[in-house]
Amino acid sequence: MIELDWGARTDTGHRRHHNEDTYLATPYLFAVADGMGGHQRGEVASALAVQVLAAATAQGAEGYGRTLILDAVREADRCISNEATNDATRPMGTTLCGLAAVTPLQGLPLLVFNVGDSRVYRLRYGQLTQVSHDHSVVQELIDSGELDPDLAENHPERNVITRSLGSGFPIDIDWWTLDAYAQDRFLLCSDGLVRELTDHQLKTVLAAGLPPQATADLLLHQALESGGRDNVTVVVVDVVGVDPCHHGQGDDTNPRHKALPTSPRFDLPDLPSFPVTTPSETDT
Ligand code: MN
Repeated sequence: MIELDWGARTDTGHRRHHNEDTYLATPYLFAVADGMGGHQRGEVASALAVQVLAAATAQGAEGYGRTLILDAVREADRCISNEATNDATRPMGTTLCGLAAVTPLQGLPLLVFNVGDSRVYRLRYGQLTQVSHDHSVVQELIDSGELDPDLAENHPERNVITRSLGSGFPIDIDWWTLDAYAQDRFLLCSDGLVRELTDHQLKTVLAAGLPPQATADLLLHQALESGGRDNVTVVVVDVVGVDPCHHGQGDDTNPRHKALPTSPRFDLPDLPSFPVTTPSETDT
């Protein structure tokens, strides 16, 4: 069993007329969806994603099975695709990333999932690591060595994502099961946050020792101060405690990364650096 504490904020920002982001924050499930589509269709898509996820997990007592969460993401995709098909002249879609507590019977205590370019980060012992991997043209170019990460911000296709909910194509969900330790802190956010703040700025705020809601408030405030050019959504989740029985083997991941080695048990002072291969190390 795992105990979590959290804070969340979303804001339209300074440039957009509507907020197409939606978030979900419940005791054992957190998600951020960033909708796309004209005529407020993005708002419908991101809200649908969150509603389907919330409905599917309404019964969870201490967490959820991984299959239940991933099936809910697929169901959300179907709902949005159906809605989009009803008015083919107005396509819509959404990103969706999330963090869920996994039921104690299923091994490791946390599940991270992602479709699109909203992000999940983890702060552990002062080190910030991006857990999710963007499904975007820019990220694919970086991965293939064709684009210098420093040039990504000004790339003409920086807004183009390669996976989304509602596309009408079968979705491929990235997911990771993770061990958790007291004082681990997770950040879920839409691209409107990371476009405005550097990794160093993110880490400074996340590691400042503020409670999760104050941390979410401050991150949002800084993103707006930096320009607020897109909708901004921030969900901060703290691991308050983890039942010792809930640490476990059987770490597995789909499809982008190999299994993560299981971390040493409990609060060893010198944990290994986060052993995911592809996501950028953002500790600076
Ligand atoms: Mn956005």
